[in-house]
Amino acid sequence: MAYVNMKQMLEKARKERYAVGAFNIVNYLTAQAVIDAAEELNSPLILQTSASTVKQIGVKELADMLIPMAKRAKIPVAIHLDHCTDIELVKKCIDAGWSSVMIDASKLPLEENIKQTKEVKEYAEGKDVTVEGELGAIVGVEDDIVVEEGEEALASVEKSKIYLEATNIDAFAPAIGTAHGLYKGEPRIDFDRFTEIEKLSSCPLVIHGGTGLAADVFKKLIALGGAKINISTAIKIAYCGGMNEYTVQRPAENNPLKLDKYVSDAVKRIAKEHIELFGSVNRA
Ligand SMILES: [Zn+2]
Repeated sequence: MAYVNMKQMLEKARKERYAVGAFNIVNYLTAQAVIDAAEELNSPLILQTSASTVKQIGVKELADMLIPMAKRAKIPVAIHLDHCTDIELVKKCIDAGWSSVMIDASKLPLEENIKQTKEVKEYAEGKDVTVEGELGAIVGVEDDIVVEEGEEALASVEKSKIYLEATNIDAFAPAIGTAHGLYKGEPRIDFDRFTEIEKLSSCPLVIHGGTGLAADVFKKLIALGGAKINISTAIKIAYCGGMNEYTVQRPAENNPLKLDKYVSDAVKRIAKEHIELFGSVNRA
């Protein structure tokens, strides 16, 4: 249908109270599996790439693979760079054709976070590229960014207001108690804080650390205005777990095409489950 950025996609989702899944893909197989899932459910889709994936495959190589896939898709697809702390890499991805980027300067003091976010926003201006920013610290490990538990700093409502007004970003990820990776216990999510920030926010809100949240938590966050939900760990588990399952059961088969089909079905199944939970079916 169209290769798009996140702006209209997320604004529509915010207004109509559903969320768009942003799935972290690592190669052709995972990208095509989530596209297939979204096409089958007629849902908009965000193909999300971590900075590590970009570095491993190469900026140009990944763009050359993903952009034609997005253009061929029967649904609107955005390609988004997740959690990038390196401004130069963010700019390279913008130049290579990513339709959306996240600058993560959340570990820095507010003034420096604002400065870096503004620099990216200015660079993206006029290129039809959307920018996501983060405030506070989302605990866990995402890519090579490690945030220890206890270091957790939820985004303050006051600072969120200052950050949003100063940066004019297109999507905002305030830390509200969700975590990257797998939850060890019951996540403590600050719904009141999320509600307050959502009310004052000029742009749609993003929920990080989606893997492992209960269905009712997703539903509540979406009802409160969460418009983009990141799913990374669940895709990794489906991919690696599927591969492991298949080869352990058939140690002598050595048939890569059958293995890929099995793994691709596992990834697609996980993506479909989340798309259904997020309420974006038939919203393409
Ligand atoms: Zn994240």
